[in-house]
Amino acid sequence: MRLLALLLLCLGSVLPVQAVEFELESVDQVVYLHGAWRFRAGDDPSWADPSYNHGPWDNILVPRDWRRQGHEDLTGFAWYRAELHIPGVAEGRRDSLHRLGISLGKIHSAYELYLGGIMVGGVGSFPPNAEPISDRERTYSIPPEAVDDSGKLLVAVRVWRHPTLGNSSTSGMFQGNYAVGPTFELMKRIWFKEAVALMLVISYLGFGAYHLYLFARNRKLPEFLWFGIVACMVAVYTLEMSQWKHVVGWLNAIPYLVHKKFEYGIIYLMPALGLELLCCLLRIKPSQWARAYQSGFALFSLLALLVPGYDILTNTLFLWQLYVIPGLFATLVLVVWYAARGNAEARTMTVGWAVFMFCALNDIVVAQGAVQHPRLLSIGFAAILVSMAISLANRFTRMYSQLDGEFRRRTRELEQTNEKLAEAARMDTLTGLLNRRGFAEKVDEEIARAGRSGRGFVVMMADIDCFKACNDQHGHAAGDFALQRVAELLSGQLRDVDTIARWGGEEFIFLLPETDLQGGATLAEELRTTLECTLFHYENSVLSLSITIGAAAYSSGMCLEDCVARADAALYAGKQAGRNCVVLDGDDAMEVAGGLPSTA
Ligand code: GH3
Ligand code: MG
Ligand code: MG
Repeated sequence: MRLLALLLLCLGSVLPVQAVEFELESVDQVVYLHGAWRFRAGDDPSWADPSYNHGPWDNILVPRDWRRQGHEDLTGFAWYRAELHIPGVAEGRRDSLHRLGISLGKIHSAYELYLGGIMVGGVGSFPPNAEPISDRERTYSIPPEAVDDSGKLLVAVRVWRHPTLGNSSTSGMFQGNYAVGPTFELMKRIWFKEAVALMLVISYLGFGAYHLYLFARNRKLPEFLWFGIVACMVAVYTLEMSQWKHVVGWLNAIPYLVHKKFEYGIIYLMPALGLELLCCLLRIKPSQWARAYQSGFALFSLLALLVPGYDILTNTLFLWQLYVIPGLFATLVLVVWYAARGNAEARTMTVGWAVFMFCALNDIVVAQGAVQHPRLLSIGFAAILVSMAISLANRFTRMYSQLDGEFRRRTRELEQTNEKLAEAARMDTLTGLLNRRGFAEKVDEEIARAGRSGRGFVVMMADIDCFKACNDQHGHAAGDFALQRVAELLSGQLRDVDTIARWGGEEFIFLLPETDLQGGATLAEELRTTLECTLFHYENSVLSLSITIGAAAYSSGMCLEDCVARADAALYAGKQAGRNCVVLDGDDAMEVAGGLPSTA
C-alpha cells in the first residue's frame, strides 16, 4: 500500500492527478491516505461540511509541498478534503468505530482537522495570534458520529501558511505519514520511531558526556573535547528533530520559534565542529582557508540564532546547503586520501563519512522538496559518531600499547643500567680489578661451595714494597701507571677460576679456589719472581717493583675476615722479614730476596 502510494506520487509528477477515495478493507487495518486529495485556496467554514460538493476542486498530492503542485506563491488559507469509506457501517456495524483514529504528518504552518464536519483538533494557531508549528505529527481519535450511516468519513483539513515565510519554506501537507486505522496501531508506529530517536538522544548524550569527562581528565586530548561537544550537539539536534519537543511538558513550553532557531543554529555550526574534530583525529593543522571556512559556519549559526523571526532560517537554509556541500566532498576526499596513505583513523572514518554524506545529501534533497523521503541525518550522525568513537578507541588502544612498549623498553634499559651500576660498584676504576665489595661476594660464593664440596681455598694478600718511595720518586701518575701494570701482570698469571681484587692502596688480594696452602705458596712465589724480574717504563722513568705476599688457607668455620686477617698477618710478617718474600700463615718467611729491587 505504501509502495503503491509512493508509485502514485512518482507518477503524479508526470501524469494528471486522479482524485481517489480511500477505502478501508477492515477497521483493524491501517490505510495510508497518501495520494490525491481535493484542494482549494481560500477559507470558508462550509468547506468542513461533509455535504459540501468538492467536485470542482483541484486535485493535489499528499504528502507533497503545494508549491511544487502549481501553487508557488500561495500563502494564507487553503483546504484539503478527502473521502474515506469504512466497511461494515452501512450494514449497521458501528461498534468498532470508536477504535479508529487518524494520523496526520507534518503540515506547514498551522491547521485544523475536521472529521465529518466536527472539529477534532489541530496544530499551531492561526492569525491574529499566529503560531506556526510545521513539524508535528499527530494522531486523533475519530468520533464515531463523524462517520455517516453509509460508512463515509469526510476528512477536511483547514491549512494556513505563514505569509511572510521565505520561498524556501515548505507548505501544506508536505511530509510524514497520513493514515487511518486503529488508534493504538497508529500511535505505535509513531512512537516506535520516536523511541528510537530518544534512544539515540540518550546514547549521543552519554557518548558526549563520557568524552568530555575523558578530556577533563587529560587536557592533552583535544579530539575528546571536540568529539564530546559534537556528540552533545547531535543529541540536542536529534531531540529537536523528534516529536518529543511537542509532548514533553517543559520542552513544549519553549516557544516553537526558539526550538527552530536552536535546531538551525546547531545544524549550521556543526560542520565547523566536525571539521575541527576531523583535523584533530587526522592530526592536521587547519589552514587559514579552513579557518575562514569554519568561521562562515559560525556566522550562519549566529545569524540563525540572533536575527529575530523565521525568515532568517528559511532564507539562509539554501545558501548554507550550497556552502556545506563543497566541504562535505572535500572532507570525504581528505579522509579517503589519508585512508589510502594508511592512516588508521581515516580508514575507520571513511565508512562513517560515506554514510553521513549519503544521509546529508538525502536530507538536502528532501528539504528542497525534490523527493519525498524520510530524513536520515540522525542516522548519518550515528554512523559518523560510531566511526569516530571506534577510531578514538583504536587510537587509545594504540597509544596504550605504544606506552606499554615504551614502558617495557625503559624498564629493560633501567635493569641494564642497574646491572652496570651494580657491576661498577664491584669494580675498581683504576685497575679494572674487583674491589673489596666484589671480592667479598666471590668469597661468600666460594665459602658456600667449599661447604658443599669440602674442598678449601687459599686467600693471599700482596702489598707492593716501598710504594710510597716509588710515588715520591716518580710522581703519583707514575704510581698509578705502575699499579695498573702490576694488576695486569698479576691477573695474567692466574687460572680462570682464581680471583684477584684491589684491596686498597697498593694492596691486592687473591682467592684461589680448590687450592691448598702449598699450591698457594707456589703461585705466590711465581708472582713475586715475575714482578721482581719486570721493569715498567713510564715516560722517562724505569720502575722496578717487588711485592710481599702473605697466604692463608680457609678451613671450615672461618669467615672472610678471619681468613684475611691470617693472610694479612703473614704479609706483615713478610714485611718484617725484609719484604719481597712470600710468607705462609703460621710459617716464617718462605723466601727473602737479597734486598729490594732498585728503581731507576
Ligand atoms: P711498605 O713496603 O711497608 O708497604 O711501604 P709502602 O711505602 O708501600 O707502604 P705505605 O703504606 O707507607 O704507603 C703506601 C703508599 O701507596 C702510600 C700512597 O701514596 C700509595 N698509594 C696508595 N694508593 C695509591 C694509588 O692509587 N695511586 C698511587 N700513585 N699511589 C697510591
Ligand atoms: Mg700497604
Ligand atoms: Mg707497600
